Amino acid sequence: MQPLFLQPVFKERIWGGTALKQEFGYNIPTEHTGECWAISAHPNGPSVIENGPYAGQTLDKLWKEHPELFGHPTEEVFPLLTKILDANADLSVQVHPDDAYAKVNENGELGKTECWYIIDCKEGADMIFGHNAQTKEELIQMVNEGKWNDLLRRVKIKPGDFFYVPSGTIHALCEGTLVLETQQSSDTTYRVYDYDRRDDQGNLRELHLEKAIEVTTVPHQAVASNPTVETAGDVTITTFVNSEFFSVYKWDVNGTARFSDEGRYLLMSVLKGEGSLVHNGETYSLVKGTHFIVPVGMGDFEVNGNCQIMVSHA
Ligand code: ZN
Repeated sequence: MQPLFLQPVFKERIWGGTALKQEFGYNIPTEHTGECWAISAHPNGPSVIENGPYAGQTLDKLWKEHPELFGHPTEEVFPLLTKILDANADLSVQVHPDDAYAKVNENGELGKTECWYIIDCKEGADMIFGHNAQTKEELIQMVNEGKWNDLLRRVKIKPGDFFYVPSGTIHALCEGTLVLETQQSSDTTYRVYDYDRRDDQGNLRELHLEKAIEVTTVPHQAVASNPTVETAGDVTITTFVNSEFFSVYKWDVNGTARFSDEGRYLLMSVLKGEGSLVHNGETYSLVKGTHFIVPVGMGDFEVNGNCQIMVSHA
């Protein structure tokens, strides 16, 4: 048993840029690369295993054929998706359904609760997070009248901030933001507003107002993020969230840190620095932009070096 290193999948987006290449050295397909699907078993872009006996297999296939690596899960599909997003321009204002709604209306897809760790952003950056309508009627009226400035709530962001974004929350990343996103494995987005932007053909992007209004939580429910920080020896662990969908942590390793097998698989993404993972006498190099899974039953391992790793589990 060994760590499973993964090859990311890249997605061209009109709002994307080149930060994924500049920051992480990825070989991006275009100058408008918006998303790195780093740890994915979603059919729209599954990661491929790079090393060991499963090299060349996709993560969705591994989930089905080797359930022992994931502790014989009861879920039919790999529940999580880790992405890095380069918002070089404003994303459209959007909302995602919950599990119950997506199951019925989106062919059995999962709902989409997500969370964001702000890796970097420009000075004074903000994002859209929530709305000001008190009732569904008010929401519909403000949408129909295009009162976007009154309706949408903006919050200031800075590097290192963390936001938990439950399904039903109206949100949008804004220009100049680089984010690590941990989310349920879903690709369902309802677009509420796209700033009336037009594409090269002069067309407005499609909106999904009816569904968006149906799934939006009214009034907005703010979820405060209260990270806790613990240092043990050479590692500082920040716990951002423990929700019914996922838990997300940041490990800052400075030196040598030993981790014991807790009987669950871990999704890991190196965001800063470099180091190595040592397991069973083997040494694996960790650099900024490396993504891997620690399977169930791998046993204890060690991380050496100076690096920051985002860690999550279902
Ligand atoms: Zn979203």
